[in-house]
Parts: sequence; C-alpha cells; structure tokens
Amino acid sequence: MLVFEAKLEGRHEQYEKLDEAIRTARFVRNSCLRYWMDNRDIGRYDLSAYCAVLGKEFSWAGKLNSQARQASAERAWSAIARFFDNCKKKIIAKKGYPRFRSEQTHGSVEYKTSGWKLSDCRKYITFSDGFEAGTFKMWGTRDLHFYELKQYKRVRVVRRADGYYVQFCIDQERLEFRAPTSKTIGLDVGLTHFYTDSDGQTVENPRHLRKSEKALKRFSRRLSKTEKGSQNRAKFRNKLARKHLKVSRQRKDFAVKLARCVVESNDLVAYEDLKVRNMVRNRHLAKSISDAAWTTFRTWVEYFGKVFGVVTIAVPPHYTSQNCSNCGHVVKKSLSVRTHVCPHCGHTQGRDWNAARNILELGLRTAGHVGTTSLELENASGDIDLCLGGATPLSKPSRGKRKPKK
Ligand SMILES: [Zn+2]
Repeated sequence: MLVFEAKLEGRHEQYEKLDEAIRTARFVRNSCLRYWMDNRDIGRYDLSAYCAVLGKEFSWAGKLNSQARQASAERAWSAIARFFDNCKKKIIAKKGYPRFRSEQTHGSVEYKTSGWKLSDCRKYITFSDGFEAGTFKMWGTRDLHFYELKQYKRVRVVRRADGYYVQFCIDQERLEFRAPTSKTIGLDVGLTHFYTDSDGQTVENPRHLRKSEKALKRFSRRLSKTEKGSQNRAKFRNKLARKHLKVSRQRKDFAVKLARCVVESNDLVAYEDLKVRNMVRNRHLAKSISDAAWTTFRTWVEYFGKVFGVVTIAVPPHYTSQNCSNCGHVVKKSLSVRTHVCPHCGHTQGRDWNAARNILELGLRTAGHVGTTSLELENASGDIDLCLGGATPLSKPSRGKRKPKK
C-alpha cells in the first residue's frame, strides 16, 4: 500500500464542513465503542450493522458517507481487537483498554471508494456526501497521475495544526531491485549517539531535534502562563502544535533517509527489539524525542526491508551490552561504564560497538534457515556428509555388508 498526501486549499466554510465530517466520524467511532462496552460479546459485523442504525437515528450522522461510517466503525473495532490481542499476549502493564476520542487539533475522517471524486487533471478533489464540502485544490499531487482510479482504496481527510490534508491509500506494492552487497549490520541505540553499528561507525543524534526540544519546552512554558479560555492561549496552543508538527516532520525526514541508506547498503540489518515502555522506566533513557526518532527509524527500516528484499531482524535486548562479542562470556557492567573490557579473553571495545556486534550475532542466529529441510533430505540420501570429526557418530551397518560381488 502506498500513501500520498496533498494539502487541501478551499474556503473557510468548506473547512468548517470538513470539521463537521471529522466530528461525525469521531462520534461514530465513540458510539461503536460505547455499544461494545454495553454488549461485550458482539463482533466486528455487529458494529458495522450498528453504523446503519446510527445513520438513521441521527440525521447529521446520516450525512456522512455510509462507507466512511463503516470505516469509523472499523477503527473502533481495531482498538478493541488490539486490546484483546494484548490480553492474550499477557502483557502485564498497560493493555490499552479502548478509550473514547476527545476533540483535538488533529483528527481525521476516512472515505473508501465513494463520497469523493478526483478531477480529470487530478489537481482537484470534490467531496460529495451529505456535508457537501465541495471542491478543493490539492497541493503536491504530481504522484497521483501514475495510478489507476481503481487502485485508490481509501481517501483520508486529516486535520493538522497547520491545515487540512488529504491522503490517498493506493493499492500498489512497492518493490525495488538492489544488488546484494554481502554486508550485514547490527545497530545499537545509544545514549550519546543515535546508533553505533557493528563496524564501530556511529551516527549522531540529529542536532535539529535537540534544538526543537528546547523550543518545545519554551512554548509549553509560555502556554501554561496564559489564561484559560483566552485568545492568547488559543494562539499559543496553535504555536505549540505547529512546532510539534515541525519536529515530527524533521524526525520523519531524518528517519526515512537514514533507514533507506542502511537498508540499501546491507543484506541483513539487526537491531534491538526495544519496548519504549521499558526505556521510559529507565530515567537515563527518558528522552522522549530521541525515543520517538528511534521508533520512527525502525518502522522505516522494516518498510524498506520489504521494498528492497533485505532481512530485518529485531532481537531481544537482553545481555546485548553485557556479553563479550569476542568470546561470549558475561561481563557485568553498569550504565556508566563506557568501555567493554573482557577479563576472559582480553577483548577491549567501546561499549556500544560491543553491543552492536552482539546484536548482529543474535540477528544472524535468529534469521532462520530456510534451506534446512532440503539439506536434511539430501543428507539422508547420503549426498552431503555433515559429519564433523567425532561430533556425529558414523553409521555402523555399512561395514561388512556391501561387499562387491565376486
Ligand atoms: Zn571475552
């Protein structure tokens, strides 16, 4: 699935109609959640049936395109399904009980294949459901020409601090060719660097994120000094939200470029399966911005892994910094010890570099061995002999039995 985004340009009244649609989508989602809470044993299809009921009961809810109503119900269902899933996995901490959405700056409404229409030049979009938001000019649409209309599976209207956007979800798998590089890499997230790889190379934390962090703090302090409900407060809330938006765009930009570079130049990428929850518990790592940057980066590494056909593996983070990457012995050390010195084999290496090598090693071990079955078959028929010294006993019966006939 490909996603393209364009900014919507329209009149003030049109934006208000989009707001209405977004509000209605939220209403449908929340109502479905309420319905599920009141009748716990219902399923996904009961919720989509309930959408039609809502549409009849509330005339304004009926204005929203019926497929868009369905999409909102699906959102409610995915929140419920995620909760059930977490319960099944026996996650001890938060299970994520589905919550009602409140009115916020950002919000969205999702249409499927009806309720909207693209112009022939694909520079304008018209929303034609009951809210009659009308025609908008779209900014940044040059990619839309390459795809057939039937590939447009979903159209999402997204409200952000700096305006209204439309996202097109296009049914097209992205596959790109890349020659094998015969290189593998392990990545360790650090305190001082964004990551250290298994070759000892480091990538610094992007400085602009640090800068933005300071600006965010400044804005939120300023916001807390304004009076509740005042014009000034609204102004600063918008400023803060815009700054957040800018930071998340910078973060994404950094993550996408770096992830593409890492994936394109390696055949296997291993990294730690870090749970952000675990990281926040540790006060030293509680730098929300770089955590978020790492999560974004990882998501893109996995995406590009699929696009370019590169193996990406998340390994369990236990002992990656404690073990010796040379001999495998456990060498206990606290967070403040920055160099790994092994008393068993004398191996000395930077702490993060050592960890990155362990991560790569773990990754290679967990990568799996797809060829195993055919290898076993071949071995059974005697084509390949895997016998190594005394490790595998030689089979006896052959002795004395297969004498050439005289
Ligand atoms: Zn060692």
